[in-house]
Amino acid sequence: MITLWQLPTTTVPISGRLESFPVRRVYCVGRNYLDHIREMQEGSERDDPFFFQKPTDAVVTDGSSIPYPPQTGDLHFEGELVVAVGRAGSDISVAEAPGHIFGFAAGIDLTRRDRQRDCRDLAQPWEAGKSFDHSAPCGAIVHADQAGEILSGELRLSVNDRQRQRTSLKLMIWNVPEIISHLSLSYRLMPGDLIYTGTPAGVAAVEPGDRIDVEITGLPALTVTISEGETHASQ
Ligand code: MN
Repeated sequence: MITLWQLPTTTVPISGRLESFPVRRVYCVGRNYLDHIREMQEGSERDDPFFFQKPTDAVVTDGSSIPYPPQTGDLHFEGELVVAVGRAGSDISVAEAPGHIFGFAAGIDLTRRDRQRDCRDLAQPWEAGKSFDHSAPCGAIVHADQAGEILSGELRLSVNDRQRQRTSLKLMIWNVPEIISHLSLSYRLMPGDLIYTGTPAGVAAVEPGDRIDVEITGLPALTVTISEGETHASQ
């Protein structure tokens, strides 16, 4: 039983540091790799990427056991590079954007794909598909100074040791400075913001008992397992 005064704040470990990164907001980019747009067969390949949000407390850390969420029979992984924001700014230029980056992490944008398709078909907001409990696993953050050439590296996601996604991060439609610049036109970015930068092709369903590993060149791996769903009784 958790009472009001014991509500935890959401933090993510920082690699090599005692302090953790406090999460303020979670932004996500949709449609940022052409091969994923093609596999989803939605919209025009010429449509721009766009943004949506997840609740801050949807973030869970490396090693988490994630209960299979309610209201879905089609829970999908989406392996993604996560950018942690370290400096506030609005209307940030592409040239200035790297100065607003605190660091990078491996992440997963968990998606109730059946509910997301409902949202599309009914022209409703995406929350039911994207913004549920435990839907934003995030690995330890590596400070940008220690991260090296992350943005020319590779992302790989495997389920139970079978590789399901693999891409060069260079294949993003909007690269990381462009994402920061576009996002800052609509929202004032603040320290503590996380930005999930979109997923490549290969997304698919997972089941209770599955283990998901995300590896990005130069970053600590992120591993989560899917467990049986919780009941929604009165805890
Ligand atoms: Mn995504």
